Amino acid sequence: MRRASKIRDLVKGTSLTVNDLIYPVFIKEGISKPEPIDSMPGQYRLPMEDSLKEVEVLTSLKVPSVILFGIPKKKDATGSEAYRRDGVIQSAVKEVKSVFGDKIAVITDVCLCQYTDHGHCGLVKDGEIVNDETLRLLTLIAVSHAEAGADIVAPSAMMDGQVQAIREGLDSAGYSNVAIMAYSAKHASCFYGPFRDAAYSRPVFGDRQSYQMDYSNSDEALREVELDIDEGADIVMVKPALAYLDLIYRVKTTFRMPTAAYNVSGEYSMIKAAGRMGWLDEKSAALEVLTAIKRAGADMILTYFAKEAAEWLSS
Ligand SMILES: [Zn+2]
Repeated sequence: MRRASKIRDLVKGTSLTVNDLIYPVFIKEGISKPEPIDSMPGQYRLPMEDSLKEVEVLTSLKVPSVILFGIPKKKDATGSEAYRRDGVIQSAVKEVKSVFGDKIAVITDVCLCQYTDHGHCGLVKDGEIVNDETLRLLTLIAVSHAEAGADIVAPSAMMDGQVQAIREGLDSAGYSNVAIMAYSAKHASCFYGPFRDAAYSRPVFGDRQSYQMDYSNSDEALREVELDIDEGADIVMVKPALAYLDLIYRVKTTFRMPTAAYNVSGEYSMIKAAGRMGWLDEKSAALEVLTAIKRAGADMILTYFAKEAAEWLSS
């Protein structure tokens, strides 16, 4: 059955397609040209205008979705730029939806870490991240994104009860059709390093191990996902992806929910680096990894390779 390529095509169990891909875009306030991100070759922080050009390219490649991350000019203790009605993401969503409408599904990251001066995903009191008081702010962020036109909001703070708080907030503000992609099983991982350079979101004290998951645990991921489903998540996510294929598989087979996997910055950068050194063939490595993530059970993959993969898959 492996003798000829057409026979292999007939028996292929997993086919990666452009419809599986979500492209993360960083939008930075107060810049006029794209800024290359050193630790993520090929990725940029974009001014608003260029983010529209980027979406144009994505729609021409038939990539169905983007997830937007904002980098504000100002940060403060409560991350107030994150829920300002004309904040960086709210403005970007309005622009993208007014130009492209339903040609692209717009997902927004709902968190505080890019907006707080301490770099944590929640409010901090006496050196601790306070869960319940953070929920109110996450809800404000989600509602402001929905008001701007986001199709899906994606809470990533790993606060307990965040999905329920956001669902109730969206419903009572009249946005019952806005879906929630929950970062349900988000692990405290070194593979986020390049993203933190990109978004300047490295915590100034401590780390995120008190709210993100321990990568040694497996059943805990199922409990987190189950809670999020009970709270109203429409899509559940495992993050990162490559070192967590077993969890993607367990989540998908246990819950049969739309399941996303985040092929994070470090997973991207290590393939890019090895490709540049001539140690790996970048295209083959990226497609093998993305296919494996899908084979493990992911219905959709957030990946910095989305644009290149769309080109590779169409050629
Ligand atoms: Zn965060």
